[in-house]
Amino acid sequence: MKRFLFVAVLILSQIPVVSIFAQGEYQKIKQYDTCIDVLEYQLEINLLNNFKSAESRSFNGYEKITLIIVSLPDSGKIWLHASSKSLKINKVEGQLDLVAQIGDRVYLKIPGEVKTGDTLTAGIYYSHNGSKDEAFYVSKGSVFTNNSPVEARDWFISKDHPIDKAVFSLKLLVPLDVKVGAVGLLEGEYDSLGGKVFHWKSNIPMATYLMVFSASNEYRIENFNTVSKLTGRTIPVELYWRNGESYDAVTYIGQVIPYMLDFFESRFGEYPFEKIAFATLTPDFPYGGMENQSFITLCSGCWYELLVVHEFAHQWFGDLITPSTWSDLWLNEGFAEFMEAYWVEVWAPDGKKAYREVVEEFASYYFTMEPKEAIFEESWEYNTPPGGILYNSALVYKKAACVVYMLREETGDENFFKILKQFTTNSEFKFANASTNDLVNLTNEITGKKYNWFFDQWIKHPGHPVYKNSYDFIEEDGKDYLVYTFTQKESDRLYYQSTVELKVVYKDGTSEIFKCFNSKNGEKFNFEVKPNVKSVIFDPENKIVLKEVK
Ligand SMILES: [Zn+2]
Repeated sequence: MKRFLFVAVLILSQIPVVSIFAQGEYQKIKQYDTCIDVLEYQLEINLLNNFKSAESRSFNGYEKITLIIVSLPDSGKIWLHASSKSLKINKVEGQLDLVAQIGDRVYLKIPGEVKTGDTLTAGIYYSHNGSKDEAFYVSKGSVFTNNSPVEARDWFISKDHPIDKAVFSLKLLVPLDVKVGAVGLLEGEYDSLGGKVFHWKSNIPMATYLMVFSASNEYRIENFNTVSKLTGRTIPVELYWRNGESYDAVTYIGQVIPYMLDFFESRFGEYPFEKIAFATLTPDFPYGGMENQSFITLCSGCWYELLVVHEFAHQWFGDLITPSTWSDLWLNEGFAEFMEAYWVEVWAPDGKKAYREVVEEFASYYFTMEPKEAIFEESWEYNTPPGGILYNSALVYKKAACVVYMLREETGDENFFKILKQFTTNSEFKFANASTNDLVNLTNEITGKKYNWFFDQWIKHPGHPVYKNSYDFIEEDGKDYLVYTFTQKESDRLYYQSTVELKVVYKDGTSEIFKCFNSKNGEKFNFEVKPNVKSVIFDPENKIVLKEVK
């Protein structure tokens, strides 16, 4: 997701709430039913009412859910997410019986003879009462959804956690003048009940937060194919755009897509999904974009290259490899944000300089906002915070992208890109999930060194180092030495370790770079230098981008 609208409002509203999450006691209870694994959701929703007016927000739906019992619940009941603020379960038929709907859970009884490994199917008739939320958006002539992070439960019954990936089929009934786009491929389009049904189906499992549809009487669609240079596969491309948007901007993105496909495929493995699609939403959509699997949604008029690159990067970092828990969200946003900078490096005429400038902008945003939390908040594994807190721009986007940049500096290009490629092509993670620890282990495995300290200090601790270094010169046996002492303020809390470069500039205009690994406070390094030193520059290329120097 990309959150660049209403940033100021979010910042104002989030600070006190975050501290409750950070400091409060919490129980380590999984936020989903561990006894089940959902295999398939088939949704049939009548949206005719929602096109009558922006106030017509209610609908009737039918859902067929197929799940497997991975362990038998002692209670004889399983549970799914369904928000009782908006959804009413009217009838359940098939192998499950309705027990109760409480809060955002619906409890269902399983048959007595069920064994572990059995597959169960149930049909659920339900209705949405039209209450307003951040999941199901209705405006005049348009209806769309946004499930991230845990909003799917507001409009259908689901195991609403990124750990459970399932296939989806969506049959959506809309007025005849409306076009509908969604995840997967279009199975059929047929007239029914005075309207038209669009049947979209994805056979590639996805997390609930990545499922979406968008319906509008405004949509114009650009369809074309692109051919993967890596695999030779022909991939359909769909661009859904609206009245008032620039056709030139849409066309430009259409031209960028083949380059973007090659950029990511050549580095991170083949494009994993059925099609590539981008669709703009109405101004009601409060974010920049959302990386729904195979159907990326963008804010109104937002045909912006770097936004498109960010969301497309998520097809690997987030959609193919999904975070195991919401604590691991930085694996999505940090990498997608980093890819914007890396895209600039590859395409800009002054590549590396432009890349560093983009990363320095990320760092400066982080320093301006001064978030007080760590990127990785363990409690989020058990208590999903509201989207406005979870998707903290300064933290899981900008600071995390800077950490990815520093990981590249610390491990070197060869190792860094090997780590990323093995992460995105790893058969254990692909079409499944990965955690922060999985990335740490992979980094250690590929480099043959332990990088736990790196992730621990940057990801699991808040803040950044404040350096107060000093240096002197000594002469020994006729040779000149620079004696450099590294010091960080507040080092009793945590000393940030790093490979450090020092640039020694001589009066004759020449210079030398010295490198060392600084691991503790007050550490001194001696470097033999030539006479006539003009200046000593600490970290001349700003490789430790998340630091202050006092
Ligand atoms: Zn994102």
